[in-house]
Amino acid sequence: MRIDLHCHSTASDGTDTPAELVRHASAAGLDVVALTDHDTTRGHAEAIAALPAGLTLVTGAELSCRLGGVSMHMLAYLFDPEEPALLAERELVRDDRVPRAKGMVAKLNELGVPVTWEQVARIAGDGSVGRPHVATALVELGVVPTVGDAFTEEWLADGGRAYVAKHETDPFEAIRLVKGAGGVTVFAHPAASKRGRTVPESAIAELAAAGLDGIEVDHLDHDADTRAHLRGLAADLGLLVTGSSDYHGSRKTVALGEYTTDPEVYGEITRRATGAFPVPGTGGS
Ligand code: AMP
Ligand code: ZN
Ligand code: FE
Ligand code: FE
Repeated sequence: MRIDLHCHSTASDGTDTPAELVRHASAAGLDVVALTDHDTTRGHAEAIAALPAGLTLVTGAELSCRLGGVSMHMLAYLFDPEEPALLAERELVRDDRVPRAKGMVAKLNELGVPVTWEQVARIAGDGSVGRPHVATALVELGVVPTVGDAFTEEWLADGGRAYVAKHETDPFEAIRLVKGAGGVTVFAHPAASKRGRTVPESAIAELAAAGLDGIEVDHLDHDADTRAHLRGLAADLGLLVTGSSDYHGSRKTVALGEYTTDPEVYGEITRRATGAFPVPGTGGS
C-alpha cells in the first residue's frame, strides 16, 4: 500500500486541478491520497467525482496556525466539512488571504515591482490565494527565477520585505475544532526550519497533551537527522508518524508519493476519525 497524506490542488496553491491530482496519484501508483488544500475543502467534490478505481481519497485540509508568533501548519483529516465551528474558522482564515495578498502586492509596488492584484488573482483562480501565487507572479515578471527564490528575506519569506501576515488559528483551538468535527490532526513539517522559525519541542509536547494525533516526519524539508530525532520525539509523546510529499504540482519539484505513510498509521487515522470516511474510487468521470 502506498499512501500519500498531504497534497495540494488548484483549490489552493497547487497547479493540478483536483481531478488531475487524483489521476496523477493513480498513475504514480498510489493506493491512498489525501487532498489537503490550505484552509479549504472546496476541491473535494471534484476529486471524488474523478476518483479512479483502485485509489482511495482521504479528505482533509491544511490549516494555517500560529503559536507564539510562529506560523505553523496543521493537517486535518476526515472531519465533517459541514461542522459549523470549524467551517467558520476555515472561512475566516481563507477569506483573510485576499486582503493579505493585496497587501503584499502593495508592498511589492512600493519596492518598485509592477505586480498587480489582477495578475495574482488570475494566477490563483478560484483557489485560496497564497504566497506561491504571488511568487508565481514574480517569476512571470522576471524578478526571481523560480517560486522558491521568492521565499527570501528580500521578498516573501516570513518577515521578508513584502511579507504580510494573515489571520492564523491558535493550534490548540484548531485541535479542539477538528476533534469537534470528528477529524484527526497531524502537525505538518514541524521542523521545516528553512521555511522560517519553527515551534519549540515543548510546544509539540503541549499540543500532544491537548490531543494532537501525530506529526509529519518524512517530508522534503526534514533532513535525515531531523527525521530520526522527530521519530524519537513521537515515540516519547505517543504521536503517530506520517510521511507525505506535500505535492504542489509544478510549483514544487517534489513528486507524488515521494514520501509515504505506513499503512498501520493510516489505519489508525481512519479508526480515530468519525467525521468522514475515506472515499474509495469507483472509476471517475
Ligand atoms: P501562505 O500560506 O500564503 O503563507 O504560503 C505558504 C505556502 O508557501 C506553503 O504552502 C508552502 O508550500 C510555500 N512555501 C513556504 N516556504 C517556501 C519556500 N521556501 N519555498 C517554496 N515554497 C514555500
Ligand atoms: Zn501550499
Ligand atoms: Fe505546509
Ligand atoms: Fe502543504
